[in-house]
Amino acid sequence: MPELTKVEKLAGRKFVADQQAALLASHMTDPPKYTVLPWHKIYRHPCTARDGVSTALELREVYTFSPAYYVVDENLPDEVAEWNTELNGDSVLVFGTIVPAARFGFIYKQGQCRGCKATARSRTGRLVDAYDRPPLEGRIAR
Ligand SMILES: [Zn+2]
Repeated sequence: MPELTKVEKLAGRKFVADQQAALLASHMTDPPKYTVLPWHKIYRHPCTARDGVSTALELREVYTFSPAYYVVDENLPDEVAEWNTELNGDSVLVFGTIVPAARFGFIYKQGQCRGCKATARSRTGRLVDAYDRPPLEGRIAR
């Protein structure tokens, strides 16, 4: 991974924290039958559609691109920082730096058995530099 700027690091930390929180929340609101590890490609389960025979469930990569981030400069006088933040609501940044959308990706795994329809999802994902590691072709990207 090429050296990230200080502002890119801030944006990356914010993005991965938000994505990880959303992924954990999905385990509460829409829990998968199986929780898998994020580096696994298949998960073997006793498939109820095949009389409990151990069956491979293919896990696919879910790749989410980061949004644009507007990082306000540090050490601005309060009144300028406040004005700057208001402007950010209209996507205008005067004293700060824009980290463009799709600078990072967040990757986790999920899948569903074709037979019994059981679902599997990882509880954690990982942050990648989207310039170095774009989505795999033919995989889920959003
Ligand atoms: Zn199954």
